[in-house]
Amino acid sequence: LELSLQHASKLEAVGRLTGGIAHDFNNMLSIVIGNLDLARGALANNEAALRRVESAIEGAHRCAELTSRLLAFSRRSSLQPSALDIAAFMPGLVKLLARTLGERVTIATDLDDRLPEVCVDHAQFEAALINLAVNARDAMPDGGTLGIRIQGRAAPAPDGGEDARTVEIAITDTGTGMSPSVLARVFEPFFTTKEAGKGTGLGLSMVYGFVQQSGGTIAVESSPGQGTRFVITLPARVGRSSPSQGAGPGAAAEPP
Ligand code: ADP
Repeated sequence: LELSLQHASKLEAVGRLTGGIAHDFNNMLSIVIGNLDLARGALANNEAALRRVESAIEGAHRCAELTSRLLAFSRRSSLQPSALDIAAFMPGLVKLLARTLGERVTIATDLDDRLPEVCVDHAQFEAALINLAVNARDAMPDGGTLGIRIQGRAAPAPDGGEDARTVEIAITDTGTGMSPSVLARVFEPFFTTKEAGKGTGLGLSMVYGFVQQSGGTIAVESSPGQGTRFVITLPARVGRSSPSQGAGPGAAAEPP
């Protein structure tokens, strides 16, 4: 799936706009919540009014949750990339995913044992994989398998020099899949097929923005009834190789 430059700059503009709005909105919302809390305290013996104020507070908290998601979405423009050893990072993340996804989802991982390091914002990397995993779960209401396959690949350098390397992360699910018309719009900000309150349509926009700013690419394949496969390709970090690769004299000295 190819995304046009125009789409990317639209995404950027939407990100900046939502960030600005969400920030102002959040400030005003804290005034609303603060005053509602005070009103609640003063209404101790008026049950009907109390119930109304309480439902207003609940609504305001939901708004606050949405704005914090919007802020997180717009913040993706300030990534702080640093070296990441994916092989060391994944076990913790897989544990987190197992807890988040519930018992109906089986997680099958397959990691190359010699993965090069990548250079990404660690929090955003984690958020991107969580986003893909949660979408996969939502597409498998009766349960299924989430596949996480991570491989190192050699990409021949165009000038015939030393091969550049990439890391390919494939996230697959055995869920409902998508029709071509949904598939064409998945990375669009605010596009969602989920019922109101369940989806913001920002998850995959965030993933897309993260991958793009990390110098990588993302592709998706899906058809109804066949599940879905997202593939993120990230450039390997240039420079020092990862500790797991640089098998020095001490590396083999581990007792059996
Ligand atoms: P949200 O999850 O809030 O709807 P996303 O941007 O993460 O927003 O996803 C947009 C839409 O793409 C979803 O509403 C859904 O229709 C579709 N989608 C994303 N991932 C999958 C998947 N793994 N299987 C089926 N549909 C998916």
